[in-house]
Amino acid sequence: MQPSVAALTDRGRKRSGNEDALLALPDTGLFIVADGLGGHAAGEVASGIAVEVIGAKLAGIAGALPAPALEAPLRSAMIAAHHAIRARAAHEPEKTGMATTLTALAIADDGHAFRIGHVGDSRAYLLRDGRLRQLTTDHTWVQQQIESGLLSPARARTHPNAGVLTRALGIADGDPKIDIIPGRIEPGDLLLLCSDGLTGPVADADIRAILDRDLPLDALAAQLVDAANLRGGPDNITVILIRAAP
Ligand code: CA
Repeated sequence: MQPSVAALTDRGRKRSGNEDALLALPDTGLFIVADGLGGHAAGEVASGIAVEVIGAKLAGIAGALPAPALEAPLRSAMIAAHHAIRARAAHEPEKTGMATTLTALAIADDGHAFRIGHVGDSRAYLLRDGRLRQLTTDHTWVQQQIESGLLSPARARTHPNAGVLTRALGIADGDPKIDIIPGRIEPGDLLLLCSDGLTGPVADADIRAILDRDLPLDALAAQLVDAANLRGGPDNITVILIRAAP
């Protein structure tokens, strides 16, 4: 049984373009959110390359292998995307420094176990029994401050440096360090992948309150985007919702 899925990306209210990219393949169980960075429209090039490279490398692997066997392909696909972004930037100097966050969820052959590959500050959440849990850890300066006890999570969300990344695909020579997060999706669970255009303006408690509503997934995705836009829509907003098959 396939999961039910809703995916939506929105420019927001302040940006002239949309540098987020998404991929949602319910048939194969592959879902990606990427949030590009870089001037002169380079951000959307970086996020686009990443989604294309990783989508191509993992199509036919997600949904076909047991979860532990997904880890190496997930990591190598993200490393390949990193080098593809750098290769493109090397040929187009105005795109120097372009980069992207990347959060990719691959569901295993049993339809329940999954692995998430993660770099940057896009996020994956799991809503289970009314409780919303963040599965990913942001690779940001403010997250480092939280872990050092110098900043509270509540203040970090609205901190002026909230957008400063410590890791992204396309930044720096060599292979990027990638988090691989294991998990399972059970009947009744709801997974959310999103960019910081949602989690910057909308607090976790407000996200949870929306996801608790008894509405079709498409309506929930639209309400998340609306919530970010009602709070000013300062950035591009991308959400993917995945509900396990019963
Ligand atoms: Ca963003």
